[in-house]
Amino acid sequence: MTTPDAPPSTSAPRAPSRAPALSPSRANDFMQCPLLFRFRTIDRLPEPPSSAAARGTLVHSVLEQLYDAPLGERTRAAALALVPSAWENLLEREPRYGELNTGGDWLDGWLDGAGRLLSTYFSLEDPNRLQPVARELRVEHQLAGGPLLRGIVDRLDVAPDGALRVVDYKTGRSPRPGYESSVVFQMRFYALVLWRERGIVPAMLQLVYLGDGQVLRAQPRERDLELTEAKVRALWSAITQSAASGEFRPRRSALCGWCAHQAVCPAFDGTPPEFDADLAAERLGCATND
Ligand code: SF4
Repeated sequence: MTTPDAPPSTSAPRAPSRAPALSPSRANDFMQCPLLFRFRTIDRLPEPPSSAAARGTLVHSVLEQLYDAPLGERTRAAALALVPSAWENLLEREPRYGELNTGGDWLDGWLDGAGRLLSTYFSLEDPNRLQPVARELRVEHQLAGGPLLRGIVDRLDVAPDGALRVVDYKTGRSPRPGYESSVVFQMRFYALVLWRERGIVPAMLQLVYLGDGQVLRAQPRERDLELTEAKVRALWSAITQSAASGEFRPRRSALCGWCAHQAVCPAFDGTPPEFDADLAAERLGCATND
């Protein structure tokens, strides 16, 4: 599953181009650390480009394009041949990724890494046996009395009997046992949106980990998705309460090592920018004074 709202790289203009919505990535931010959520969703503080994120976007783009080829022509060689143009297109859309190129043979090695991930894909699935009904599918659902839920499904397969399979590609390694909660939440979030929009509970949620060649599968039940909806509502309530009070507390954890905002985080002796209640209302699409 592709995140529709990767962490911002530059200060964004204040006017939102689309209605504010909650995605699994931003929901996971809040669960990890409310202050991180604020920095990314409300303040939209810039974050340096990430090599791993860029490679993930590149590999997703190649896998999406691969399915344009007719059955029988979706080969590993065809996928690898798409890499250079996908990289050029990505650089056009996200020029900041050019900063990652440190010269020398960096780019060759980096693209080889993307090629290895694609090779792993072919050891897990045969794309010539699949005919997805959608790729990079934007999904949305307005939760009654709650937030607009939004995300992008990497691939949606529909069986002849109408059963839905939601497929998400991950370019990292599969989580260790006991650390799957954020990915399980993400997949159920999408299943919830599809269920509410189409009236069908997806039969299968499938995570394809290209970093270590693992595939995780889950068959959600209606009850699981009801619980996910309750969790999203509780989360949204906590977010709007934080926005009303202006209090987004830092939650220090091992994940702080990957956070780009330690310099402005009180947990690391930093000082956050002043909280802007109007900006919060605008970016969350909710009143902050009730
Ligand atoms: S450094 Fe840690 S506690 Fe501070 S904002 Fe980032 S994730 Fe939160």
